[in-house]
Amino acid sequence: MLRGRIVADPGARSNGTNGTRSRRPAARWPAALAVEPALAYPSTARKDRHRGQVETTFFDRDLETLDRASLKSRQEAALSRLMASLGSNPFYRAKLADAAPALDAVRTLEDLSRLPCTSKQELVDSQQRRPPFGELLSYPLRRYRHYHRTSGTSGQPLHWLDTEEDWETWIRCWAQVYRGAGVTEDDLVFCAFSFGPYIAHWTAMAGAERVGAMRLSGGGMSSRQRLDAIVDSGATVVVCTPTYALHLAEIASRHGIDLAGSPVRVTIHAGEPGASVPNVKRRIEEAWGARCFDHAGATEVGAWAFDCQAPNGSIHLNELEFIFEVIDPGDGRPVADGKSGELVVTTLGRLGMPVIRYRTGDLARRLSAPCACGRTLARIDGGVLGRTDDMFIVRGVNLYPAALDDVIRGVGGIVEYEVEIRGAQVVNDVLIRFESEEGLSPRDVADSIVRAFRARFDIRVGAEPTAAGSLPRYELKARRYKRRST
Ligand SMILES: [Zn+2]
Repeated sequence: MLRGRIVADPGARSNGTNGTRSRRPAARWPAALAVEPALAYPSTARKDRHRGQVETTFFDRDLETLDRASLKSRQEAALSRLMASLGSNPFYRAKLADAAPALDAVRTLEDLSRLPCTSKQELVDSQQRRPPFGELLSYPLRRYRHYHRTSGTSGQPLHWLDTEEDWETWIRCWAQVYRGAGVTEDDLVFCAFSFGPYIAHWTAMAGAERVGAMRLSGGGMSSRQRLDAIVDSGATVVVCTPTYALHLAEIASRHGIDLAGSPVRVTIHAGEPGASVPNVKRRIEEAWGARCFDHAGATEVGAWAFDCQAPNGSIHLNELEFIFEVIDPGDGRPVADGKSGELVVTTLGRLGMPVIRYRTGDLARRLSAPCACGRTLARIDGGVLGRTDDMFIVRGVNLYPAALDDVIRGVGGIVEYEVEIRGAQVVNDVLIRFESEEGLSPRDVADSIVRAFRARFDIRVGAEPTAAGSLPRYELKARRYKRRST
């Protein structure tokens, strides 16, 4: 018995408000302000009704709507606990030995902001000096339960451990990701990530369990098998990278699978910024007939940002579990709200392997004004805007891959693409190779790309059609940007 969720005949799905949804979460989630009437199954009609409607569900409403002064006190209490724990952490004990203020004098956010930042390279160096975990552990090894590794696509992989308490932080963060997207006990979450040592799959699954949703792993499957599993199971929520959501949509279309008509009503994306890029988000929403939600995280930090149901193009910083700063990547000075800078994060809940003032390399624009969803947690406008090291300059225009993605996805009829950037930081030439949809004139699509770049950035790019299926497809982070130094 699958809790009444699986309906063999799609025509038999609920089409009204007859209250047959037996696992209504209201009693278990007193904080929920969901206005949607009980339904047996999220039919396409229900999916459509979600559009343009702001419905707010919380994981912990009291905490997520705390006034800012109380939130700061809460962060500072956690900061004191964190600082007290660093005495047994060899890396930070050495790094901050001569810091001013001294560790035991760090009490406030202002005190914290005077400590030196931590870079990823320092973590990597420590692990290379003392493999595999470096000097980064605060406790004896036997206290840790969860071992994950990063993929190392941008350098050496990091080995990361979590104690049971640290893992609990991960799960709370993911529970906020799900509740922010309106996921409840009535949902079936499908995680389209590979099994392996990467943390996203395992934390996404654990978080789904915490909000009471049923969950189905898509590890160890081909894309076609995943699509069949999504359709056959009646999954209502799919978690994957934005790139992979579009890749699955492409395969579905090739095999005549109607994803927009499937019960999937929510997609949640991790791993790369696409879900906050307007034209990428729109394409995912059209292909899946679902609302697309962004979130941001990193193995060594945690799931540090989550989306909400207010359609304002921003995502929330999880200030209940982390302290955030936005700095100028050049001189390290704080950047005012509304201006973009590099996000610096301090983990409050992962005492076993903490990061203090960690430079994420992610560019973001912080907003502190309250959100329409009711949360007082600050937001970043447009999600992660790019990576500090991904910027390139074309004829005086500063460009990030996310901005190019937005323009390219805004041109209709492109199935897949890659961008070749010629030149070092100052670029002489940008060439976009693309596969166009069947039945379209590749020349017309190429002209549209060139026109779109001229209109948005006033730059001239090259656009070159390639044969269908000739460009690589990505399951995890896309690597569509190829640099050539000549
Ligand atoms: Zn919000």
